[in-house]
Amino acid sequence: MLKRTLKVRLYPTGKQKQILREIQIRCAKLWNRANYLIRQEYFKNGKILSYNQVYNFVKNSPEYKALPTDISQAILKKLSESWKSFKELKKLKEKGKLPEHIKKVSPPKYFKNRKLNQTLPMSIIPILAPRSYSLGDFSFSFTVPKDFKENYGIKKRLEILATYRIPYKNYKLKKAEILNKNGKWYVHISVEIPKKELKETKKVNYASIDLGIRNLITLAIYDEERKLIRIYQFKSKELLKEWKYWNRKIAKYQSKLAKSGYKGSSLKLRKYYENRNKRIKVAIQQIINKNKIIQILDRYGVKEIFIGDLTGIRNGKDYGKELNKLLHNFWIRKQFLNILKYKLEEVGIGLTPIPEAYTSKTCFNCSLEVKRPKQHFVICSNCGKLHSDTNGAINILKRGLKLKNLEWKKIGEVHLIWKFKQTNRWVFRYLRIYKKDKDKPLVRGQANNPPVGVATPKRSSYSPKSSPAFLMRGG
Ligand SMILES: [Zn+2]
Repeated sequence: MLKRTLKVRLYPTGKQKQILREIQIRCAKLWNRANYLIRQEYFKNGKILSYNQVYNFVKNSPEYKALPTDISQAILKKLSESWKSFKELKKLKEKGKLPEHIKKVSPPKYFKNRKLNQTLPMSIIPILAPRSYSLGDFSFSFTVPKDFKENYGIKKRLEILATYRIPYKNYKLKKAEILNKNGKWYVHISVEIPKKELKETKKVNYASIDLGIRNLITLAIYDEERKLIRIYQFKSKELLKEWKYWNRKIAKYQSKLAKSGYKGSSLKLRKYYENRNKRIKVAIQQIINKNKIIQILDRYGVKEIFIGDLTGIRNGKDYGKELNKLLHNFWIRKQFLNILKYKLEEVGIGLTPIPEAYTSKTCFNCSLEVKRPKQHFVICSNCGKLHSDTNGAINILKRGLKLKNLEWKKIGEVHLIWKFKQTNRWVFRYLRIYKKDKDKPLVRGQANNPPVGVATPKRSSYSPKSSPAFLMRGG
């Protein structure tokens, strides 16, 4: 058996973050109480209490009972481990064999701000065993304190939106640790896998990319084994706003020049054009150069990408003069593909162009012709409503795989927006899930709330009012 860590990214909502922080404080309180007992005994008699002794002392305390048993016990285990390592380091020090990078050996500390006399949150929430948590296709759930269920209206477990990939077939889940790193939340799960399974990490999946207007890029990844389709939509709304802003400036200045009768070249005008194109460049660089797409493809073990053939505007749709200009912009068309190709070659992922005709006119699920009452949705009389770019990307995927039918169970549509004003990067917005049902082949699930400030590294204070609960458009 080999031990590995499965890293799962969590996207808690504002309310869920508050719950996590409260649990972190409770963890710290139990740690501090148990640590106090051990420290007292240690400084009095030089003895270190065992896990069982500590457990018997604190098992009826309010701090222990304020948490689910699997969290309380995991904290006592962690505390006991850090005392053990303290003891070992002390021995090494006495023998003069302390590793160079360790300067000082001191017993485990409290989570406390002494000046303010405040409990500090424990950096992790440990969970002892998989009976207290579970992994769903797009979520992580775990048992929370009993009083939380009433206070926050949690039915069974707290379910947090999550993205991850399981690269092994026969893995065994062990303990887990929820942690917060630079404002981002993760859960690290210890797994055990049979030795021969390591080969399974190789690339096995296929993906498709569709370039469009509403979404600069729509990426569809097919996980054949789990019958899941992951959709990443890079929404271009913010970018279009800026594109239009610069176009207005250019038009205004041009008419000013025309009125004055000036015929020569204008430095200012050229600057405007440069600025406009630079902004789009930055947005695309954030997708490719910062390896956003490469990371996603790598996480899900993609070996080949099908890309919609980009000759001509898709299916003759006219998006208006301004938007057509953007689509034909040199950078989007050429640079994007060139850089993508180069980057994919580096990591050994294939790129195959696919004819795009009719990929947005038929339903990916049943191949019937779809209606498109609004730009961003298609409606299939058989299957219901689906995001038009999602439908298009899956159709390209199907065509690339030469499939009549795509076997699938769930679609997770991850929406990313470009927040250039604040952060200049793509941030997670929300997830929408489509499920397959026996009677109705396409059932749209509930969308998760967008996590508040998930991309901002600084710690934002929680305010329940600021949670933008429903950003879903189009009903
Ligand atoms: Zn259909």
